[in-house]
Amino acid sequence: MNDEQNADIVIVGSGMGGATLAAELAPTGARILILERGEQLPETPETRDPRAIFQRGVYRPSETWIDGAGTPFNPGNYYYVGGNTKFYGAVLFRYRAQDFRPVAHAEGTTSGWPFDYDELEPWYSRAEALYQVRGALGDDPTEPRHSTPYPFPPVPDEPAIAAARDRMAGVGLHPASLPLGVDIDAWLKRAATPWDAYPDARTGKMDAETCGLASALSHANVTLQTGAHVRRLLMAPDGRMVEGVDYRLGGETRIARAEIVVLAAGAVNSAVLLLRSSERGVANRSGMVGRHFMNHNLSGVIAVDPRTINNSIYQKTLSINDFYLDDGRGGPPLGNIQLLGRVTGPILKAELKRVPDVALNWVSRHAVDWLAMSEDLPNPDSRVTVDGERIRLDWKRSNWTSHLALLSRLKERLRAAGYPIVLSRAFDRRTPSHQCGTVRIGSDGATAPLDPFCRAWDHPNLFVVDASILPTSAGVNPSLTVAAQALRVADHIARSDL
Ligand SMILES: Cc1cc2nc3c(=O)[nH]c(=O)nc-3n(C[C@H](O)[C@H](O)[C@H](O)COP(=O)(O)OP(=O)(O)OC[C@H]3O[C@@H](n4cnc5c(N)ncnc54)[C@H](O)[C@@H]3O)c2cc1C
Repeated sequence: MNDEQNADIVIVGSGMGGATLAAELAPTGARILILERGEQLPETPETRDPRAIFQRGVYRPSETWIDGAGTPFNPGNYYYVGGNTKFYGAVLFRYRAQDFRPVAHAEGTTSGWPFDYDELEPWYSRAEALYQVRGALGDDPTEPRHSTPYPFPPVPDEPAIAAARDRMAGVGLHPASLPLGVDIDAWLKRAATPWDAYPDARTGKMDAETCGLASALSHANVTLQTGAHVRRLLMAPDGRMVEGVDYRLGGETRIARAEIVVLAAGAVNSAVLLLRSSERGVANRSGMVGRHFMNHNLSGVIAVDPRTINNSIYQKTLSINDFYLDDGRGGPPLGNIQLLGRVTGPILKAELKRVPDVALNWVSRHAVDWLAMSEDLPNPDSRVTVDGERIRLDWKRSNWTSHLALLSRLKERLRAAGYPIVLSRAFDRRTPSHQCGTVRIGSDGATAPLDPFCRAWDHPNLFVVDASILPTSAGVNPSLTVAAQALRVADHIARSDL
């Protein structure tokens, strides 16, 4: 291989943003080179072994970041072809229409987006088709307008979950089917496990590799280079145009030159690349690159009823949005509630090492496992910075009072529904699973690095299309919004004369 490669478009990262953009640009015939730091996730017995995944952490990266206090930690951020979507719960929600406008929360008002829901709606439909989303319209009172129905019917509730749905409806809530990107028959054929946080070795999850990338790579003009760790952008002498990137491959430094460079390395790593590429940081006239890091407030909630048995395998088919737009009493929004993937004894053991297996298995057998998710508000002091080779992630968690209120509402409804024991635990701060906001879009280059089409205000041939572009985290899972915006940006690039 030459030390230098040329392409029309270089995309850094093959996760949700990068793979989806590549799929939409591939039919243009442009020579597209995708540089991916990771390798393809291998199919081995560990992919369905909860002890390997959750107790031994065999898929976690070897890297170390530091937090705001300077304490080192091993982040739950995954580097494989397909990125973090290889592990995702495949919940493919649209942001609600209200999320695009300023929203008053208990701890502050969000800025809103530079465009409204209707602008993104057609791209949400395209994204749902590409990721073959299973869902149903009509049950969720917060569902925004859909110009097309879901392409497939919802993943069915297992009998124990159908009973849980009835119990939650019986206490006045509106449980709805989660929109999901999973072919449940294919997934279960490989092994009877949940899919949430399990790696997908191409056995039924609709993720960035199996959908976006597979579509892109069906075109001969698209090339994927794995094991290619991009280190920095190469800027033209005028500092305006990007000439390409340099990357490490097999211990050597290489260069890829392109007319257009697209960063899709994830919200932490795209910010890191921009910050490392010039003294002040590329695309950083606003000083906002790396700022406004958001990650959702997440808690697991385990509802135990000793009289009933939860014999479900995957569990993750229900969502409750009764407290999404307000707190149910006219107060500020609290967030989304959805089922977790089935939390079995070995998964509990990863967190509760001293509790005997027999006790954990008993709890799991009688419990239904929920996830409470509240919006994290944009704060310029919540940020990613670099210090030489070190990455510092100083996440300032916000809106915690709303999250506590959501937990309180959920626990109260669960008790009313007949679960006498309800336990909760906040997710580990070291898991930036819903990371976003660090290279945000905005209508003013003085306050945002990117324009509403994700182009750097000051670099006409530089785009960013991963979760870093989200100006708000909303209270729902981010991936479908990342995908919809990537499709919109790809269409814009295809139509533009740069
Ligand atoms: C356990 C778990 C469960 C989740 N569940 C859900 C869910 O149910 N629904 C949902 O919407 N979201 C979920 N998420 C979040 C979702 O995975 C992310 O929001 C999504 O993947 C973000 O897309 P992205 O393009 O920003 O980044 P990613 O998909 O992470 O892609 C970034 C890619 O860039 C590569 N890369 C990074 N740095 C470099 C570099 N320097 N050079 C070259 N390549 C690089 C990475 O290897 C990766 O492939 C979950 C995440 C986790 C970890």
